[in-house]
Amino acid sequence: MKKWVVFAFILVILLSYGIPQLNVKSGGEGKVNIENGSLPSKDSQMITVSKEQMYQGDLLLVNADYALHQEGIRSDVVSLSDRSDLVKGFGLLDPSIQLSQSIVKSFGKMVAGAAKDGVNHFLINSGYRDADKQDQLYRDMGHDYALPAYHSEHNLGVSLDIGSTEAKMEDAKEGKWLEQHAWEYGFILRYPKGKEEITGIKFEPWHFRYVGRAHSAIMYQQDLTLEQYLDELKKTKGLSITLDNQKYTVTYYPMVGDSVTVRVPKGEHYDISGNNYDGVIVTAYA
Ligand SMILES: [Zn+2]
Repeated sequence: MKKWVVFAFILVILLSYGIPQLNVKSGGEGKVNIENGSLPSKDSQMITVSKEQMYQGDLLLVNADYALHQEGIRSDVVSLSDRSDLVKGFGLLDPSIQLSQSIVKSFGKMVAGAAKDGVNHFLINSGYRDADKQDQLYRDMGHDYALPAYHSEHNLGVSLDIGSTEAKMEDAKEGKWLEQHAWEYGFILRYPKGKEEITGIKFEPWHFRYVGRAHSAIMYQQDLTLEQYLDELKKTKGLSITLDNQKYTVTYYPMVGDSVTVRVPKGEHYDISGNNYDGVIVTAYA
């Protein structure tokens, strides 16, 4: 066969199949279907998003390479020992623990879900940390287990270290349950085993991060860390995921100068989050 014939043949295959459908891990709760897909222009509109948005939202990447910006810190951080209405079904290691109120609510739902499976010895060991506390921890723990001030997700108020009152997390039922089910509640195991090269942090079976349910589902099903997921979003023209009959469309837009124009559905059914380095992600739910 002539070279151009082979080339044309490959081209036809590529065009007819488009980008192959992403692999979906089998098992897990709920019905999950992930495909490539963008928001249809019908029923949507273009809006302009300013650069500040790049540093706010559920999908901020904060690690050794990217420091958080002040506007990324959750404004609803509360002291949990003052909020017995929020602390139900789990304990606190000490009374100074703080966390974003909306995230502790999601954590409470997760703990209630685990209790239905007979897993009910949860403890929050650490939540939000301010820069001084982070700095102290970094000096005490070293760079394998802690990050400098402004480079830890704990400084955002969206991450927490979860323990079990029964055993170490790697052995505890609580740890095993979370590894399988946290994604159903919008959380990810942020530093998994085998991904140390990507995250730069050793396996931490206790550290969970809130990213929102559509994203946690995709990351869990595709076995992606936050670093990998944000990279993946940049490569695709958009992803759609159907979770229990709710369809979400996730689209990345690179920031151009001080703003970017993005497509959103008409009405309020969307969230925008920055990635904290070069763009924003629109999550539309129809
Ligand atoms: Zn942690």
